[in-house]
Amino acid sequence: MAAMKKLVVGNWKMHGSRSVNAELLQGLLAADLSTSAPRADVAVCPPFVYLADAVAALQGGAIAVGSQDVSVQAQGAFTGEVAGPMLRELGVRYTIVGHSERRTYHAESDQLVADKARAALSHGLVPIVCVGETLAEREADQTEAVVGRQLQAVIDTLGADLVRVVVAYEPVWAIGTGKTASPEQAQAVHAFLRARLTAAQADAARVPLLYGGSVKPDNAAELFSQADIDGGLIGGASLKAADFAAIARAA
Ligand code: PEP
Repeated sequence: MAAMKKLVVGNWKMHGSRSVNAELLQGLLAADLSTSAPRADVAVCPPFVYLADAVAALQGGAIAVGSQDVSVQAQGAFTGEVAGPMLRELGVRYTIVGHSERRTYHAESDQLVADKARAALSHGLVPIVCVGETLAEREADQTEAVVGRQLQAVIDTLGADLVRVVVAYEPVWAIGTGKTASPEQAQAVHAFLRARLTAAQADAARVPLLYGGSVKPDNAAELFSQADIDGGLIGGASLKAADFAAIARAA
């Protein structure tokens, strides 16, 4: 069951500067996405230090702001962490949790990711929980086992709040590589995730399922037309206003 409106989220990763971001955001505002992409909810996720700038630039418009991570803690002696209440206070709406780069470079476990999702929800943020397999795991026919395990931690941890999350399927081998999962490959995993969510809780059938991994203007429409693909999490192409706007319009 696909959601009525697609959700298209830009993950800027560790890119940008105040002037580069201002130009990018101006480009997105000029694209007038609420009119030109009426079937998409849109958000951008800049690095933490630029969140306040992005919220200010996008104030009152249709584009929401998300962070790329959140602490499991609400406050305290946790050097380098950023807490949910701080993000909420700024006007941040979404937070990405468990991106494969954080799982890989920061050794984030399935349980830590699930705990971050729970912390985000408890502070009024919508977590975008990323799951995805590596190339070796896909080749070993482990895709469902891996994404199923990653999702299960979230199901077990959130209980009834499961319905409030967004899930992003991002095959690690497709992130930043130019290799996109075919629409059929992506749809198959999305259908599996949808079935797992629905088996856990009937209402969780409506959890938006985003696809991420080298989504570009020329492949977005076909991916978004799949039955269980409710939008996209966009890395590289979200750094160019024209490309990101074209992807939102493809919804
Ligand atoms: C991402 O990192 O979330 C991502 C999907 O990146 P890209 O679009 O560049 O593959």
